[in-house]
Amino acid sequence: MAKLTRKNFLKGAALGTISLPFLIRGCGPTNIAQNTSSGPNIITDKKFQWKLVTTWPPNFPVLGEGCTYFANWVREMSGGRLDIKVFGGGELVPPLEVFDAVRTGAADIGSGAAYYWAGKIPSAQFFASVPFGMNAQQLNAWIDNGGGLQLWEALYADYGLVPMSGGNTGVQMGGWFNREINSLSDFKGLKMRMPGLGGKVLKRAGGSPVLLAGSELYTGLEKGTIDATEWIGPYHDYKMGFHQIAKYYYSPGWHEAGTALEIIINKNKMEELPKDLQAIVRTAAARMNLWTLSEFEAKNGIYLDKLINEEKVDIRKFNPEILNQLRTYTEEITEELASQDAFSRKVYDAYQKFRQQATNWSKLSEKVYYNDLQI
Ligand code: CA
Repeated sequence: MAKLTRKNFLKGAALGTISLPFLIRGCGPTNIAQNTSSGPNIITDKKFQWKLVTTWPPNFPVLGEGCTYFANWVREMSGGRLDIKVFGGGELVPPLEVFDAVRTGAADIGSGAAYYWAGKIPSAQFFASVPFGMNAQQLNAWIDNGGGLQLWEALYADYGLVPMSGGNTGVQMGGWFNREINSLSDFKGLKMRMPGLGGKVLKRAGGSPVLLAGSELYTGLEKGTIDATEWIGPYHDYKMGFHQIAKYYYSPGWHEAGTALEIIINKNKMEELPKDLQAIVRTAAARMNLWTLSEFEAKNGIYLDKLINEEKVDIRKFNPEILNQLRTYTEEITEELASQDAFSRKVYDAYQKFRQQATNWSKLSEKVYYNDLQI
């Protein structure tokens, strides 16, 4: 083998001829090989079959598609040793019973968002979305690299579940309305579909939050069961057809600045897998996490253009006075949530500390770039 010099390395890397063991030996005492977990990994032909239940309607764009890709990637990487069958919401269990289905072992793995379980685990909401909270980039950084995942795992361990990130919507839109929202008083009596902590904030502003499944929103808005609805962003909202029955499309989604989706796995089922299959599951989930965010980002610009130029949608922005007051309500509500129990306080404090530091950095980087450099 040729001596490893910078010149040979560049030549070898370009040609793809430098072998992995050579590179690992060259990395010195902190090389990757020494950091992998100890013990042999016995690879056998044993096949595993998992059921993946989702909170999304069958074949739902992006969210359901991501689950199908995830299952395909796992199947391909494992050579078929882990075969995952995907069930849309309602096909095996109702959408909001995914948590219990995976917890009890009726299903092996689930896809949803942590704020759907707020009734059981209030502090789970910190791992999905906090109004005026972290965006996708910051939340991914906190969960995967900033200690968030360890807190999330500890929270779900009591339920025999292993959580991990499984997608992110990016910053959402503020919703569809048939009347202008010019002051906070315009929220008074407004029946609006808004889940999670955002719904609590809306209620404090005088509104009437309604929790409806995605499949019921169009009819609800058309028939006047609700006056307004939020959903996700231009791509998904266009597919839902809201521009046909609502006049104003408001920005920004103050209530969901970057909602994280989750994968939950029955802990016993995860531990039954050999280590290589466990690593494949985690790798596919990480790919799904990025794929989902990228899919929304790739499509939102295209569909925003359609909404503006083809559908002539009236796009508005909430004014700063409204947003400032909603932010104050959010601070009150998240503080109340954190005060419920010691673990919620621990998660909230960790979330806030990370958010503040990430925001201080963003003010010198992303914010300057968006405000001053990107037109
Ligand atoms: Ca939403």
